Amino acid sequence: MSVHTQAQTYQNYIGGEWRPSASNQVEASINPANRHEVIGYVQKSTAEDLDQAVKAAQSAQIAWRKLSGPARGEYLYRLANVLERHLDDIAATMTREMGKTLPEAKGETARGVAILRYYAGEGMRKIGDVIPSTDSEGLMFTSRVPLGVVGVITPWNFPVAIPIWKIAPAIVYGNTVVFKPAQETAVTAAKLMECVDEAGLPPGVVNMVTGAGSVIGQGIVDHPGIAAVTFTGSDQVGRQVGLGALARGAKYQLEMGGKNPVIVAADADLDLAVEATVSGGLRSTGQKCTATSRVIVQSAVYDAFKQKLLERVAALKVGDGLAPDTWMGPCASERQMQTVLGYIQKGLEEGAVLLCGGKRVTAPGLEHGFYVEPTVFENVTPDMTIAREEIFGPVLALMKVDTLQEALQLANDSRFGLSASIFTRDIGNMLEFIRDMDAGLVRINAESAGVELQAPFGGMKQSSSHSREQGQAAIEFFTAIKTVFVKG
Ligand code: NAD
Repeated sequence: MSVHTQAQTYQNYIGGEWRPSASNQVEASINPANRHEVIGYVQKSTAEDLDQAVKAAQSAQIAWRKLSGPARGEYLYRLANVLERHLDDIAATMTREMGKTLPEAKGETARGVAILRYYAGEGMRKIGDVIPSTDSEGLMFTSRVPLGVVGVITPWNFPVAIPIWKIAPAIVYGNTVVFKPAQETAVTAAKLMECVDEAGLPPGVVNMVTGAGSVIGQGIVDHPGIAAVTFTGSDQVGRQVGLGALARGAKYQLEMGGKNPVIVAADADLDLAVEATVSGGLRSTGQKCTATSRVIVQSAVYDAFKQKLLERVAALKVGDGLAPDTWMGPCASERQMQTVLGYIQKGLEEGAVLLCGGKRVTAPGLEHGFYVEPTVFENVTPDMTIAREEIFGPVLALMKVDTLQEALQLANDSRFGLSASIFTRDIGNMLEFIRDMDAGLVRINAESAGVELQAPFGGMKQSSSHSREQGQAAIEFFTAIKTVFVKG
């Protein structure tokens, strides 16, 4: 892979070839740390480009599905090795394109490598069961078969890990893929496709088409050649994707937003709780679906917790994610920064008390980036917009309660149910939280963000379509069960 010192134009990756869009139009992807820096130009694709990609994926699937699982897994191992070799370049591109700090970008890319190796191994696993038949002459079993072409639609916040945790299981189970990345991180996605190319995957097994959500994303949802759509993004778009796929009988999987609570019980280790709240809420500039957003603290420790939290937040260094001492980078785009500032304004108007932050950062050197100060509100009530809507930015909302039961009630008072944490030393509190918290990821004495790659990932309520990604759970979405009966 070449190192690009100047803004390069990236093409779509279709049928193992780099192809310009039929539109002859490109758009710039810019650095959120400095809006004047163009990272690269990507194709503004059309329905015609998408159609070519679907055709390439359809024809590749004929041979790909016939390969054994271990043979498909071999390709994933190769891709993992190529990605690992280019880890530094890809991570630096990610930081420049969407702003997360370089250590986080490297961590994410390393996670992508690990996911590929995990699913390469999954290619060895038996998939199917023998089911005893009541007919003494009958043999009954299930096999898992691929769905066909899978449409992969992804957001910008994990531009390597999320595509990989969808593409890897899709292809190891015999599907082929049409991938549409978020425009904000399409250069990082193109670099991932360069790895696919270098790893020598058969042409058409993985295809990428960049462009607008309304054209290429919606086109994937509506395309009759696409058997299933896996989507991660906002809940507004997710609902549209689900309805569209349902209307034409395609399988769909939606991973959407969160409004993730942390409960700090009166007996919590406060230093641990502060560290986890800061890390869970503000790393990646709060742009994680599992980011801590509501911080519900028992009154007995509220003042002590608040003081420690504010001291910790005041010490965070905001800056360009490439700089070695930066703790928090910019918002990923101007649109995202404006959304976050809009929520902060709404918090003020609705009567929340601002404890720190609240403004765009315009210090010398940062004035051309989309930086927002790490922000903490208190006196946040459950009806306020900042207690209900996903902000997807560096904003924490403190809420004070007397009892653990109140805390749980407040934590569950949300249309989302992705991730939730409690900090406590009491086993009774832990068990109550595990039992009563309505979230797909329930974490004890650990930050709300994060889950190991071999474990199921997904949410309850409006956070998800209730299927699970990652680990062996992914087989449920990416395959269909065939029940076979043989009369002897
Ligand atoms: P988004 O919904 O705006 O976009 C997601 C993807 O959908 C993009 O590729 C976009 O181009 C595409 N899209 C837009 N309109 C479309 C349409 N009509 N049809 C089909 N596709 C369309 O989300 P975003 O701003 O890129 O990402 C932020 C959101 O992602 C947050 O809400 C966050 O919570 C969510 N997210 C969820 C998870 C999770 O696993 N639950 C993980 C990361 C991010």
